[in-house]
Amino acid sequence: MDADIMYLPGMGPKRAQLFNKELSIFTVKDLIFHFPYKYIDRSRFYYIHEIDTTLTYIQVRGKITGFQLLGEGRNQRLIGKFTDGRNVIDLVFFKGIKYCTQAYQLHTEYIVFGKPSLFNGTFSFVHPDIGPYKEEVKMGFQPLYHTTEKMKSKFVNSKAVQKLIYQALQTITPSLPESLPTSILHKYRFISLYEALINIHFPSNMPLLEQAQARLKFEELFYIQIAILRQAHALKTSFKGFQFNHIGEMFHAYYEKCLPFELTNAQKRVLKEIRNNVRGAHQMNRLLQGDVGSGKTIVALMCMLMAIDNGYQACIMAPTEILARQHFETIESQINKLPIQVKLLTGSTKKKDREHIHEGLLNGSVHILIGTHAVIEDTVNFKNLGIVVIDEQHRFGVAQRAKLWNKNTRPPHVLVMTATPIPRTLAMTVYGDLEVSVIDELPPGRKPIVTNHIFEDTKREALNRFLKQQLSLGRQVYIVYPLIEESEKMDLKNLTDGYQYIQSIFPDLQVSMVHGKMKPAEKDAAMQEFVQHKSQIMVATTVIEVGVNVPNASVMVIENAERFGLAQLHQLRGRVGRGADQSYCVLVTSRKISNETRKRLEIMTRTNDGFEIAEADLQLRGPGDLEGTQQSGLPFQLHIANLAKDGHFVQLARECASEILENDPQLKSPANEIIVKELKTKKREQQNWSIIS
Ligand code: ADP
Ligand code: MG
Repeated sequence: MDADIMYLPGMGPKRAQLFNKELSIFTVKDLIFHFPYKYIDRSRFYYIHEIDTTLTYIQVRGKITGFQLLGEGRNQRLIGKFTDGRNVIDLVFFKGIKYCTQAYQLHTEYIVFGKPSLFNGTFSFVHPDIGPYKEEVKMGFQPLYHTTEKMKSKFVNSKAVQKLIYQALQTITPSLPESLPTSILHKYRFISLYEALINIHFPSNMPLLEQAQARLKFEELFYIQIAILRQAHALKTSFKGFQFNHIGEMFHAYYEKCLPFELTNAQKRVLKEIRNNVRGAHQMNRLLQGDVGSGKTIVALMCMLMAIDNGYQACIMAPTEILARQHFETIESQINKLPIQVKLLTGSTKKKDREHIHEGLLNGSVHILIGTHAVIEDTVNFKNLGIVVIDEQHRFGVAQRAKLWNKNTRPPHVLVMTATPIPRTLAMTVYGDLEVSVIDELPPGRKPIVTNHIFEDTKREALNRFLKQQLSLGRQVYIVYPLIEESEKMDLKNLTDGYQYIQSIFPDLQVSMVHGKMKPAEKDAAMQEFVQHKSQIMVATTVIEVGVNVPNASVMVIENAERFGLAQLHQLRGRVGRGADQSYCVLVTSRKISNETRKRLEIMTRTNDGFEIAEADLQLRGPGDLEGTQQSGLPFQLHIANLAKDGHFVQLARECASEILENDPQLKSPANEIIVKELKTKKREQQNWSIIS
């Protein structure tokens, strides 16, 4: 396996160099682990009437009956009418139109390979591969491999890679050493490594391919989980934390006298999880997930009270000034009966007040500090900071979090709160080193927000009538416009046009406007107008996305909703539905929207559940795109497993890895020798890889 690929039959030094440079493939093992990115199912021919959305790459046999040239300019396309003798499907070409009309004969038997695509309700093949039909065509699954432009220019295409991999596979035998312990192979009935490698490249049928994929995906995820869990264990045991031993006066007084409502069961459960964590000997690093409006602030406050009861200070950081102020007002008003000093520190705190606060933090008379980034400036020092709460984690970088560490001899407990739901399987991997608590229940009495998707061209007036009716009931309305950086000017124009339009429709009402280009003070003033109900309508860009709480606002209109991602739409919608009134979200789009957009909007109108939306988002976009969840955080490279699609295997790998480490934390038992060896190999390979890349 460790042999240089140069010596494989058909390779030679020149080609080997191409593989080295272009794909970082050096050894036979590297080559064998260069898995196909897809397979063409050549095991059979499909009929056109069988085509549906579940198929990937298929082959159809038939004849072209005619060509048609449609559209003009960039939109020009050639349509080939292709029939299997029963039905007809379009072959669509945007490029190489002249070539196609010359290369393909009418009424000649061809095989068309491709992935059927659905457009406006009908299937077609866009730029399919077309080859002559031959009786002896080889059946089975044909693997396709990634190559680069440079490789292709030297005639090393997918076919050539396939041949070389075939050669590489000749060098291994069924006695190939295993990379998973026998107990795991038995438990999950996995095929051997040898069988898996043969069948991942040249499966003779679908079940064998699936077995090979299962084994190899599991293995990758298993070693990632082992690595993460061991690291988490090391982290947990290496930092001593502050012990919050007792639940004291402030916590009880708050619970009995100040808490304005009964906690939900989820809030109680999460508080218990946190309490069990901070009373132990180790520092807490916890991610608190809860959908918008699930009541994270109260949980944070009660954690801070635990710190105060044990003689420590607490601090909460918010991503924006508006949010910091809201936290301050909420918390201050809830504990004003208790002898606790709360201070707000932001960029606009005056110098004199600032100095005063610094002093109070140092001598311990200030118990809770609430603020923006300002709280982590070097001039801010605490007497004994016990816990830090970070609201909306993705706006705080790792470096900023690390700064907190320097404020103490020991790191404080850290609670990171996020309303961006992260699917469990992803959290397990990307945040594998954080403990996770989830508030999965909304406070009672919340009515689900009614969401509708409308087309702007026909429903604009109906929407205005609806807004008028809601406003006449005394409610407030948000109207949000997208902001995309490349065309900021146009966006701003959209926004100001929208603002003027709304003013013209509702001349008797006050309309506020907020956007990212305003100065913080202006933004704040406009927000405050709306919060204090001095204005009835807020026209804004996504700056309002995070956190603002205006329970009287009952309608969220999102203009150009096609330009927002699912997570963002959900966050925006979360601005309404915070009071007792029925709330509404209206997604406005033009008629020209893609299938994917349609899916996004359908999900939004179907459910209010943030986790369901996050799962769907993950399916639609893949994990690399999710905010703050780069795959680069993984201990090892993934070759075959996909965090978005293989949630089931992530779960399985996690369970298996935890069980093994629970029984054998140091991996000392002979049965786990393979694991230790494999971890070492993987670490070495990863190092080599990062040097190369
Ligand atoms: P988020 O999790 O989005 O930060 P908040 O903490 O801002 O949510 O809470 C949203 C609203 O719900 C606030 O007005 C808060 O007072 C209220 N709330 C929180 N917990 C409860 C509860 N257990 N019962 C009733 N209302 C609650
Ligand atoms: Mg919040």
